[in-house]
Amino acid sequence: MERELQCAFCGRNKSEVTLLVAGVNSHICDYCIEQAHHIINEESTPKNSFIKNDSTETPAFILKKPKEIKKFLDQYVIGQEDTKKNLAVAVYNHYKRIHAPSTKGEDDIEIEKSNMLMIGPTGTGKTLLARSISKFLNVPFTIADATVLTEAGYVGEDVESILTRLLQVASYDIAAAEQGIVFIDEIDKISRKGDNPSITRDVSGEGVQQGLLKILEGSVVNIPPQGGRKHPDQKMIPINTQNILFIAGGAFDGLEKLIASRLNLSAIGYQNESHEKIDKKDLLHFVTPQDVRTFGLIPELIGRLPVITHLTPLDEKALKKIMIEPKNALIKQYKKLFKLDHITLNVTDEALDVIVQRAMTLGLGARGLRSLCEEIFKDFMFESDDLGDLLTLDKSLAMQKIQNFESIVYSKVS
Ligand code: ADP
Repeated sequence: MERELQCAFCGRNKSEVTLLVAGVNSHICDYCIEQAHHIINEESTPKNSFIKNDSTETPAFILKKPKEIKKFLDQYVIGQEDTKKNLAVAVYNHYKRIHAPSTKGEDDIEIEKSNMLMIGPTGTGKTLLARSISKFLNVPFTIADATVLTEAGYVGEDVESILTRLLQVASYDIAAAEQGIVFIDEIDKISRKGDNPSITRDVSGEGVQQGLLKILEGSVVNIPPQGGRKHPDQKMIPINTQNILFIAGGAFDGLEKLIASRLNLSAIGYQNESHEKIDKKDLLHFVTPQDVRTFGLIPELIGRLPVITHLTPLDEKALKKIMIEPKNALIKQYKKLFKLDHITLNVTDEALDVIVQRAMTLGLGARGLRSLCEEIFKDFMFESDDLGDLLTLDKSLAMQKIQNFESIVYSKVS
């Protein structure tokens, strides 16, 4: 009996399909042709228009002066004056360098880029600063977590995935991505463990730093457009990282101790040999690239992060301001949420103090404010129908809600 002809792709018999097209040695059915057509279409949709993007013009870029940049940051970020200034100048120089008319051949001076390292405790505004500056510049921005990155060949994400994300944020506009900003969080968590890295292969630390170095130093990096691991058959997109601004951030717990010992400070009194009074709380003020190296970042990487700046822990006054002053302040957000339910929210000054004092003891910087507010307002939001048109959060109500929250947490733990 003669065997019925089959589609070589899906195995359907001739009788099961409308059309079976013959090739040299095999056949393909109409169903598979349609599928293939669909795949081809998907591959060339605007999402993947990176090939066409060479002709895409980047929007006109108007560079503002550092003072204007700082003024913008002031609207979002409370305190951290030094860091805001440093960031404003770094960004100004960086984009001036990109947009300056080429002087090559005239004086042979090439302005190097000014990637930045922000050191400061959690919840003090590192990510917020990076996010705000990208908003100001209107360039693609992405946040990468250094702890999930691993050396190629190990479980985790390749370093190149950072650039894939930036490209995705830029809707695959290569030119835009090549002028974007990348914030690498938790850079301190990939520090070299111990002083002798050669004994064992240090997967999480030094290898990743080496990988980062490659993209930070301004080179052409081939990246897989859809992310994931690189494999030999994959189509790669070359991204030039020369004009991408990298901002790395981390808490660097323990760095103060290293600074103190370098400054030769005695444990008591915090006075150095020259008897210059040094503020114990502000040791990060004296941080040098050498300290960061002792902490465990490789010198080559530190060299690629020439601007080092530090953020100070937020005090009660700053936390209170954060709740009400910035453009996107927490209380403003809650007021808006309640307003949508036609409820006017009032928060008294004393209630703010209660929240701030509790946030201080949590030690999470401004991050603690959000979770406390969530707890305080959660029930009110649930009962919004019965609240009437005015909700006043005063001291005793705030204290009561926080205590309720703590007793729940406490009973869950014990
Ligand atoms: P980190 O320093 O850990 O990166 P973030 O920038 O993510 O901290 O801050 C967490 C949240 O706390 C932000 O979304 C922001 O609302 C608030 N916040 C932190 N620091 C500041 C600050 N200096 N000014 C205003 N808001 C801040």
